[in-house]
Amino acid sequence: MTSSPRRSQVAGVRATGTGEAAAAQWRPSLPLAAGSKPPQHLADLAPAERRAAVAALGEKPFRAEQLARHYFTRLTTDPAAMTDLPGPTRDRLAEALLPTLLTPVRTVTCDAGETRKTLWRGLDGVLVESVLMRYPGRTTVCVSSQAGCGMGCPFCATGQGGLQRNLSTAEIVEQVVAAERTLAAGDLTPDGSADPAHVSNVVFMGMGEPLANYRAVIGAVRRLTDPAPHGLGLSQRTVTVSTVGLVPAITKLASEGFSVRLALSLHAPDDELRDTLVPVNQRWPVKQVLGAALGYAEHTGRRLSIEYALIDDVNDQPERADHLARLLRGRPAHVNLIPLNPTPGTSWQASAPEGQREFVRRLRLAKVPTTVRDTRGREISGACGQLAAVG
Ligand code: SAH
Ligand code: SF4
Repeated sequence: MTSSPRRSQVAGVRATGTGEAAAAQWRPSLPLAAGSKPPQHLADLAPAERRAAVAALGEKPFRAEQLARHYFTRLTTDPAAMTDLPGPTRDRLAEALLPTLLTPVRTVTCDAGETRKTLWRGLDGVLVESVLMRYPGRTTVCVSSQAGCGMGCPFCATGQGGLQRNLSTAEIVEQVVAAERTLAAGDLTPDGSADPAHVSNVVFMGMGEPLANYRAVIGAVRRLTDPAPHGLGLSQRTVTVSTVGLVPAITKLASEGFSVRLALSLHAPDDELRDTLVPVNQRWPVKQVLGAALGYAEHTGRRLSIEYALIDDVNDQPERADHLARLLRGRPAHVNLIPLNPTPGTSWQASAPEGQREFVRRLRLAKVPTTVRDTRGREISGACGQLAAVG
């Protein structure tokens, strides 16, 4: 469903309960050189590592759990709020393990406030974006895993800027914690009828290729899904990792014992076209990437999601729909068609409505479950492939 531009309201910097407006006006002198690794944060560490880190600071290891509860459950990094910790201890622990990694630069909203894109600045100045979307009965946050992306898909705004650097585990987790704070403050729903008041789904579909930043992404999945107080306590089944198809990393992911959903950005059923739309296909062609992704689906029992951006006269021909159907018929997969979102770098257009309808019809005729994704966030350049993080 395309949201009506009339409902769009680019709000610029909004005053919120999270102090975003004040932070947005604050122009920090950047404490780290461009491309530097961010400092260590509690959310980078597994529970045992946190205890060790706290002990190394001369504090009792059980303090680690108290600190984690403040961060993941109470959503605070403010030592003054940590009244169950002795004064000097809170200051020392918060300073060492809860640095502010991302500062909000700008927030824009549309869909009557139910879609909200935030531009963040890292300590070294890199810019990334995340998008929070409220739907009936669920609230999804779309997170970035890298600043920029090195995969060079020509239809994607993120790819057009190249890769700046990988995000750390904590920088990824921070995007979700910030979303939780927004929801807790009631800022996503101006009418105050927040439903639900927590993030229910996380999709790694923001900037970057998550499997090119494997270790940090796996750490983030653990922090998001570890039960409280060690993590945010989300169900793994509501986390989706989207990839262009880095085959060794897909195979490795299958061995982690997760039940997260995998989305494969296929965009073409044949190597000739996919080589141009998704350049990494030259390394791992369709047959190999689909084999690995379906292997993941069989191993985890989670249906594979095939992402396919419909581009007018490029990949939306009826014979390509039939080819895709032959690849997927009877397999544990469903197709999620994404009407191409406009990006500055290409003149490609989304498929015409008849082309899209015919594509859907042919897939369904072959009994391949098919849905068309809504274009949430398009008018604030917050939809799939539009995140470019321009300050
Ligand atoms: N790098 C990962 C995840 C981020 S992109 C990946 O490519 O899968 C998230 C999704 O948006 C992917 O399916 C991607 O192919 C799609 N996408 C990129 N640019 C797009 C555009 N202009 N219109 C529609 N979808 C796009
Ligand atoms: Fe990177 Fe995904 Fe964009 Fe391709 S579509 S350039 S992999 S973010």
